[in-house]
Amino acid sequence: MSTLGRPAAPRAEQFPRNVLLRARWLLPVSGAPIEDAWIQIRHGKICGFGRRKHPHGLGPTLDLGDAIVTSGFINAHTHLEFSACQQPFDASGGLPQWIDRVVRWRREAATAAAASSSLTPLLAGLHESAAAGVVAVGDIATAVPPAVDLPLLLHGPRLRIFRELLGLVPLPPGTASPAAPTVFRDAQRLSRAGIAVGLSPHAPYSTQWPLGRWAVAAARRLHRQRPATRRPRPCIPLAMHLAESADEDQFLHSQTGPFRTLFESLGVWPARPPRLTSTADWVSLLARADRGLIVHGTHLPADAQAFARLRRHRSRLAVAFCPRTTLALAGRLPPVDAFQRAGIRICLGTDGRGSNPDLSIRHEAGTLIAAGLVTPTDALRMITINAAWALGFEHCTGHVAAGRPADLVVLRPAVTTRDAAAATVAVFAPDTTVLATLRGGRLIAGQLDFSGA
Ligand SMILES: [Zn+2]
Repeated sequence: MSTLGRPAAPRAEQFPRNVLLRARWLLPVSGAPIEDAWIQIRHGKICGFGRRKHPHGLGPTLDLGDAIVTSGFINAHTHLEFSACQQPFDASGGLPQWIDRVVRWRREAATAAAASSSLTPLLAGLHESAAAGVVAVGDIATAVPPAVDLPLLLHGPRLRIFRELLGLVPLPPGTASPAAPTVFRDAQRLSRAGIAVGLSPHAPYSTQWPLGRWAVAAARRLHRQRPATRRPRPCIPLAMHLAESADEDQFLHSQTGPFRTLFESLGVWPARPPRLTSTADWVSLLARADRGLIVHGTHLPADAQAFARLRRHRSRLAVAFCPRTTLALAGRLPPVDAFQRAGIRICLGTDGRGSNPDLSIRHEAGTLIAAGLVTPTDALRMITINAAWALGFEHCTGHVAAGRPADLVVLRPAVTTRDAAAATVAVFAPDTTVLATLRGGRLIAGQLDFSGA
C-alpha cells in the first residue's frame, strides 16, 4: 500500500477550443461507424462530423492518421478511495473474508490518522481513469473531502459521487441513523460544489431496511433542491451492491452463515437482530428512485422473485457488472446472457483498486469479450451510452452527436484496421493504446501532436 503523488495535469491549455479532427475511424456509438472521418469541435462541443469531404475547419486541423475516435468511456462503478492501493486485497475465501481484510485495514488506517488526505486517492483515481480513456465515473464514497478541496475534482472526468450509508444497529422507529444527517450534508456539499450526487445503501447484508427507505426519501429531498443556476432539477440516482455473493441469500433468510461470523468477529453484530429484508424488496425500493443502479447482481437470475421485479422495473433500473472483481471474489464471470435476454440495461464498472488491479474499463469489457459473453459492439455500448444513462449523464455524454459536448477518446490500434468490425474489435485489443481523452473538448489525459497542423 502506498500513496500515489498528486497527478500532473495534462497540458490542456495548449489544446485549441476550436479544432477539426480527422481519423481513420469514428465510432459514434449511436450511429454506424464512419471511415475516413472528420469531427469539428467548437467551443467544447461537437458541431458536426462526417466522412471524407469536410467543411472549412474552424481552428487547426489535426490528422490523427489510423486512429480510432469514439465516445469517451464511462466507468459506472468504482470506489476511488482505494485508488492508492498498489494491489488488491487478498480475495481468497470470497466476499466475507475480503470485507474482513478491508475493514481491518480501514481501522488501522484510521488509527494511523490516514497517511494522506482523502483527496489524494480520489485525484489519483481520476487521473488513472482519464488516462484509460474515461470521461465519466460513478464513485461510491464513504466520506467526502472538505468543501475547499472539492473544486479540484472538477477538472478530470465527470464525476457522480454516490454517498454510501450502512448500519446494522436497530434504531427507534422514525430514526434512520445517527449518520444520516452527515450523509445528507455531504451530498448537499457536493451538489453545491457542482459535483453530481447520488446515494448508496451499501448492500442488503450491511444495511437495515429503514436506512434504505430513508435514502429514497433523502434522494427526493435532494432532487427538489433546485440549484442556484437555472439548470433543471438534478437526477439523484441510487446505487447498491446486490446479490453479490452466494452467502448473501442465506444471511438474509436466517441471519446465519459467513456474514454473521464476519460481523461477530468485527464486533459489529448488534444485541438485537437487525431489520434486514429480501433482495426482491431492495429491487422494488431502488425502482422508486429517479433511477437505480444494481451493482454486480451475480446471483440475481437465481432469485425468481427479485429477477421478475427487476425485469418489471427495467425502465428505471440498470445493472453494473464488474467482471474482474466478480471473477476474483465469486469465482465466475457475471451472468450477462440472463440480463441481456431480460432486456436489462447493462453497464460496466471496474470496482475499486481494493478488489481490482487497475481502473481500466476497457479491460473489464475485454474480459467479457475474451470469454465470448459479449460482442465488441455490445461492450462499447455498455461502457458509453448505457453507462451514461445509469449515471444520469445521458444529456451530456455517452455517444457522439452534433450539439453534444466533445467527450471523446482517441485510440491508436497496433495495426491498421481495414473495416468497421475490425475497428470495433481494436477498441478493446490489449495492444491498442489511449492517445488522448477529451471532456467537453478539453484535454484531460494524453497528448495530441499539433506540430504538423
Ligand atoms: Zn463496489
